[in-house]
Amino acid sequence: MTHRPGPGASTRLLVLLGDPVEHSLSPRMQNAGIRAQGLDGVYVALRTTAAGLPGLMRGIAHAGGGGNVTLPHKEEAARVVESPSEAVLQTGACNTFWMEDGVLRGDNTDVAGVRAAAGALLGGSPAGARILLLGAGGAARGVALGLLMDNPEVVAVRNRTPARGEEMVRHLDDPRLVSAPSRSSGEPRWDLVVNATRLGLRPEDPLPIDPREEEMAAVLDVVYGPAPTPLVQRARERGIPAADGREMLLQQGMASFRHWWGIPAPEAAMRAALEGS
Ligand code: NAP
Repeated sequence: MTHRPGPGASTRLLVLLGDPVEHSLSPRMQNAGIRAQGLDGVYVALRTTAAGLPGLMRGIAHAGGGGNVTLPHKEEAARVVESPSEAVLQTGACNTFWMEDGVLRGDNTDVAGVRAAAGALLGGSPAGARILLLGAGGAARGVALGLLMDNPEVVAVRNRTPARGEEMVRHLDDPRLVSAPSRSSGEPRWDLVVNATRLGLRPEDPLPIDPREEEMAAVLDVVYGPAPTPLVQRARERGIPAADGREMLLQQGMASFRHWWGIPAPEAAMRAALEGS
């Protein structure tokens, strides 16, 4: 490993653009990856207004840098990039940007992230699985698209506001993506339940689903905090394999790293940085 003295005149700037960004684990994870590969770069978080986003994205990319975009700017970022990936086009959200051949490119690496996280949890792809997806916000769209790429039998969407869930089902337009009934009593068990709501961020939040009341074989939560989320804890108490959002965060971050640096991301170093936080 090369030891660099710190940022200098040729250092590449990678950024996280969002509001808020103070809680993000991405700087710690990405800087660990940069150090492990001996690269000359630095990753910082910038709190940004919607008005500031396009200028920052273009300016940083034109200066040889790149970055991630998070809440609430992912949809706006999808409009700013000049060459969106298929994942950006289908979800309408962009979380990664960089310059390639003079063109501002964008991807939604949450899609690759959830596929890798689900694969790690299940010990293989969810092909043929019956999946219940909770939520229909920005994260849920990327999750739905990623899961559908692995040929599940069905992805049933359940959302607090049913109309928003139905709109997501219509937008993604895939026969395997359907609206779920509000409760699945009488349903056979789910092979996988994915929580893509915000529930679990705050201590007072109710569980997004109770593993004591519905049958499920595995649980993937996109929410994460300093400790395993209440949903993950409750699932594990019942012997159900469960992972929180750190695995997806790691996997989306590794996919972003590959876009910026053109080399595989150092998984062990990036994982250790997340686990130590
Ligand atoms: P969002 O667009 O605001 O969507 C929030 C979702 O949560 C909606 O489906 C909303 O339902 C539901 N919800 C909110 N409050 C609820 C309540 N009290 N009861 C039931 N449902 C409720 O947010 P988002 O961008 O999708 O983000 C969702 C979560 O994913 C956040 O915690 C975010 O940090 C996390 N995330 C993690 C990763 C990762 O890499 N691990 C990546 C992206 C996002 P309604 O439609 O009814 O409002």
